[in-house]
Amino acid sequence: MKKPYAQALLFVLLLAATIVGGLYIGQQYLRDSQQPHDHDKPTALHQYFHEQLHITEAQGKALTEIEHRYREKRKYLEEKIKLGNMELANAISQDGKYSPRVQAAIDSIHATMGEMQKSTIEHLFEMQTVLTPEQNQKMNQMITDALYHSQP
Ligand SMILES: [Zn+2]
Repeated sequence: MKKPYAQALLFVLLLAATIVGGLYIGQQYLRDSQQPHDHDKPTALHQYFHEQLHITEAQGKALTEIEHRYREKRKYLEEKIKLGNMELANAISQDGKYSPRVQAAIDSIHATMGEMQKSTIEHLFEMQTVLTPEQNQKMNQMITDALYHSQP
């Protein structure tokens, strides 16, 4: 990666991805906080899974603790990404170039995004401990479908 053109292009792409990621998460956060009585609402894909799986009342109760932990983790990571975006903005405005500090800020945001993705997948597998074999099979199918079609 010695070519300055390639580096500049990569920077723009990463920045765009970061902004889009930040926007998406921002919207999600806003939606959640606009519905204080529906604070347990998981993210769209996760919610979709819950609906499609026809979770019984007993399963819902068994999932309460698991869902709570996932929600807390997600909130924490969302805040971390917001802070990362601010750090990146500071680094860009202060350095005015693709500096090591800008690179570090981008790396840090992407590491947090990776953590978010891991925690969602982890959560889905944790949910499986409460589901029936049929529900598990259906969920596995939905996860792979979603990934193949890259639907958020
Ligand atoms: Zn869940």
